[in-house]
Amino acid sequence: MVLGQLGGSISRALQQMSNATIIDEKVLNDCLNEITRALLQADVQFKLVRDMQTNIKKIVNLDDLAAGHNKRRIIQQAIFNELCKMLDPGKPSFTPKKGKTSIVMFVGLQGSGKTTTCTKYAYYHQKKGWKPALVCADTFRAGAFDQLKQNATKAKIPFYGRGIGKLLGACKNARALLLEIGYGNAGKSYMESDPVKIAAEGVERFKKENCDLIIVDTSGRHKQEAALFEEMRQVSEATKPDLVIFVMDGSIGQAAFDQAQAFKKIVSVGAVIVTKMDGHAKGGGALSAVAATKSPVIFLGTGEHMDEFEVFDVKPFVSRLLG
Ligand code: GDP
Repeated sequence: MVLGQLGGSISRALQQMSNATIIDEKVLNDCLNEITRALLQADVQFKLVRDMQTNIKKIVNLDDLAAGHNKRRIIQQAIFNELCKMLDPGKPSFTPKKGKTSIVMFVGLQGSGKTTTCTKYAYYHQKKGWKPALVCADTFRAGAFDQLKQNATKAKIPFYGRGIGKLLGACKNARALLLEIGYGNAGKSYMESDPVKIAAEGVERFKKENCDLIIVDTSGRHKQEAALFEEMRQVSEATKPDLVIFVMDGSIGQAAFDQAQAFKKIVSVGAVIVTKMDGHAKGGGALSAVAATKSPVIFLGTGEHMDEFEVFDVKPFVSRLLG
């Protein structure tokens, strides 16, 4: 269910309640159940929806509704406030300051749009007069460095990393040598530890070059991949980021909460960016990611191009969600 459809379903539920001559507990419950269904279909986590339903029931006074107040408006306002509350973790994220070096590390599932978002984030700040730089610590996905390099070159942003071709070549040689001397499995750990080194080197270099926003892209991973999670922890330890941003595909669905929480357990996620909000993205994932990471959404990705990137603002987002 896309955002507009969610808004449509909620509006319909409210309209049906407004049409009822008497608002009793049953009418209110029917309305809330309808809204619950719409939110679940939009991938808001079940527990969040249930809590919201309980809160609304506490806030909405049946006597007020019976006395002819504008029922639709009262409930709509309560839903609006509850959704805003869900998107506000209560504290702002770390905000980098222009002219002062900040290190920002990007984490997320493979395919979430992390590499694209790193460049968007750099480009957004560059346009405002910052001096950003990109470090590619993704040596896992073939072509990740080339993709980052291509984007960075287009935006004239300095970058650091190693092409997979070169790395695989080095690994192959190292592995062949290790196999020859009887350490067959050691080649693998050589490859796994490398991103940590690359990340640290890149950060050091750009610190020396006085870049004020050093962005570290890491390999995409799933919560089931323990080794890659360990590598992410090591990259974080080596680069000491001021901010870790969790990048999430807006259409990930009910899996959003568990995945976001898995990342939060390993690195200190401080902000969320939701991508692909231009496509069939569902609004619920954003609510779940905020709840799981206790961090605010700071930007939305709204397309594949470098400038399709919006600052996230809670109230307009919820208004759009409600249609
Ligand atoms: P990564 O594996 O997380 O680094 O993901 P990528 O940055 O390679 O992105 C995966 C795909 O999603 C690419 O085809 C991107 O062009 C696309 N993508 C990223 N962000 C957005 C977005 O906001 N909207 C749309 N429509 N596509 C996006």
